[in-house]
Amino acid sequence: MALETRELGQQVSDLAIVTGKPLFSEPLHVGRPNVGSEEVLLKRIQETIHRRWFTNNGPMVQEFEAELKRALGVRHCIPICNATVALEIAIRALELTGEVIVPSFTFIATAHALQWQEITPVFCDIAPGSHNLDPERAARLITPRTTGIIGVHVWGKPCDHEALSRLAAEQNLKLMYDASHAFGCSSGGRRIGNFGACEVFSFHATKFFNSFEGGAIATNDEELARKIRLMKNFGFSGVDRVTLVGTNGKMNEISAAMGLTGLESLAQFIETNRRNYRLYRSRAQHMRGVNMVSFDEREANNYQYIVFEIDEDVTGISRDEIVQLLEAENVLARRYFYPGCHRMEPYKSYFPHAGLLLPRTEALCERVLVLPTGTAIEPQDIYALCGVIETALRFPLECRSALRRTS
Ligand SMILES: *Cc1c(COP(=O)(O)O)cnc(C)c1O
Repeated sequence: MALETRELGQQVSDLAIVTGKPLFSEPLHVGRPNVGSEEVLLKRIQETIHRRWFTNNGPMVQEFEAELKRALGVRHCIPICNATVALEIAIRALELTGEVIVPSFTFIATAHALQWQEITPVFCDIAPGSHNLDPERAARLITPRTTGIIGVHVWGKPCDHEALSRLAAEQNLKLMYDASHAFGCSSGGRRIGNFGACEVFSFHATKFFNSFEGGAIATNDEELARKIRLMKNFGFSGVDRVTLVGTNGKMNEISAAMGLTGLESLAQFIETNRRNYRLYRSRAQHMRGVNMVSFDEREANNYQYIVFEIDEDVTGISRDEIVQLLEAENVLARRYFYPGCHRMEPYKSYFPHAGLLLPRTEALCERVLVLPTGTAIEPQDIYALCGVIETALRFPLECRSALRRTS
């Protein structure tokens, strides 16, 4: 990544917001795609083209499925065209109806997958000291219409699955997970993919491991797996034989080729993410008012998200102001999942008072800053952009006035 060699972030007058000269000549993105061996990928694509078998459970998808199963230690891991359709299929296969409890602190697709099927997403707050669903709060949201709970392993950090599965069993609810962030992660030494009735992964290009577009549903339940396989293929159980209502959730061969190739470099992607995580952490631990989300080193983690929480009461400068300062430097930091699902349409109109029950979610949405990582980021990029944040923290008032002058 091109980096100009100027003395980094010592003074406010050095910042791009003043000089108009960004640190980075090209934008640094959150979620720039990782690619494994280009050569191997092209060879697989060529094979596919020569074979003239592009979709409908071709050999690439079959091989990808076998590798996914092996990597997760799970009985079934069914590739799907993307995680949103995978969520929709899983929700239907589990026969969820009425109301389903979900966090508001998640990507909008978790809620949409329910609403799309006219199931009401009931937004639940996060647990104290966590960014994941609070099982205690979830218990209080159960009504006679509730049929299930969808937990989300936000940033790849596992939900409190013990408490959630206890609650689900007691209340006779179905429990599944949106594990879009959690490929390659574990909880108590057990791979994510093995919890709840099923778990959904995303292999979208912005995730650390991608198949261009793609996803998968992991389950150890034979009957559920059988149903999911039918549903992802229009309900076809044989030629000219349809047994239930289905959709088109099939993964294509080129996506599977990308997935297979990425899997071969997975350890490298994770190692790079971990290196970046450690570099960020070494700087973040000296930043007053900044808490960096940390990962339990006893577990398998993918380290794909670098998440800072900015406490404006301590820093004197807001998360949004830091976003603006970074943007001027060509660092495109993100405010995941601002403003929270419950404050986006149609949910905002459906549940205008949802926020009253979501104080922790709303507070977190003002604090989270997600920073670039992955194989496209070099150590000097991390030093440089941390330097900008450090300058902002050292001179909050000056930065604020500089921002006012330019806006
Ligand atoms: C990325 C993501 C999705 C959607 O995944 P797609 O594969 O893009 O459909 C769903 N939920 C969460 C939490 C995600 O991060």
